[in-house]
Amino acid sequence: MIDLYDLNEKELEKFFEKIGEPAYRARQLINWLYKGINDISEITVFSNDLKNRIKEKAYIGRLSIVKKQLSKDRNTIKYLLKLKDKNVIETVVIKYRFGYTQCVSTQVGCRMGCAFCASTINGMERNLSSGEMIEQILAAQRDLGHKISRVVLMGSGEPFDNYDEVLKFVRCINSDNGLNIGQRHITISTCGIVPGIMKLADEGLQVNLAVSLHAPDDEIRSQIMPINKKYGIADILQACKYYTLRTNRRVTFEYALIRGFNDSIHHAVELARLLRDMLCHVNLIPVNEVNNQFVRPSEERIQEFAKTLQNRGISTTVRRELGSDIDAACGQLRRSYMNSIGK
Ligand code: SF4
Repeated sequence: MIDLYDLNEKELEKFFEKIGEPAYRARQLINWLYKGINDISEITVFSNDLKNRIKEKAYIGRLSIVKKQLSKDRNTIKYLLKLKDKNVIETVVIKYRFGYTQCVSTQVGCRMGCAFCASTINGMERNLSSGEMIEQILAAQRDLGHKISRVVLMGSGEPFDNYDEVLKFVRCINSDNGLNIGQRHITISTCGIVPGIMKLADEGLQVNLAVSLHAPDDEIRSQIMPINKKYGIADILQACKYYTLRTNRRVTFEYALIRGFNDSIHHAVELARLLRDMLCHVNLIPVNEVNNQFVRPSEERIQEFAKTLQNRGISTTVRRELGSDIDAACGQLRRSYMNSIGK
């Protein structure tokens, strides 16, 4: 059986062709699918006969909400969603003045092994399909009664470890026939998979690229990000320059500040030196204390670090606290759920 959300417009046209229907049925179906309907029988423009023939081969995937946490300020909502195979994933919605931004997962778990991340503790279970990524957005929209206007691929999983499904998802949600989310409102965040960055640069898209850098040199980075042994900082920055060259887009570097590890002024100076000739932005993220191994720096140090970068011409912001009262770090809610069911 096929989950209809897994098919893009061209694939839906083929699907209808196979059951003897004209290609325009695909567009009709998409219009209904993206309203977030529950069942094929709700599609009033199709005859009962056609609906039955679709049901013989396909279904509408739906992720059920297992748990929902709301931050005290009510601006961050974290969902634990159950997939068809009973795996669970997380997605987070953040309410800003300009609308709702959703952080979408791309894999069940992750195999990248970043030391500060709860998503990777049990490794990677499997890739998510493009439809399962779309369904995360529809589940949130149904629950909130609001449209999601921005999407960041920053939930569990490394997007470039699931490249084809991620790109299919991006194109589907960007389509004016789909969710119509602008490319510049979509951000793909990677731990630094160089071939993925290079490939994305050549896709002819205008999406935002965010790279988790977290260190000013390979020695420090390799201690918390095993992937650095494969793709070192020099290669990542080279790939990011290529991304800017091809797309004219500024690259965002994420930098998790960890007390006594990568938060000294010397580290900030080194980071500024690395990035000085790049069209980029640095997003400083005081680390989430996942397992007591990492401690966030003092407020004073965070501001000092930011100032050091800014004084050297590097556009820098400190990420504001988002729902720190609701297991908001990547993978924490899923992890506490898995613990509760003894997995
Ligand atoms: S930070 Fe991202 S890439 Fe690293 S382990 Fe977590 S989910 Fe994977």
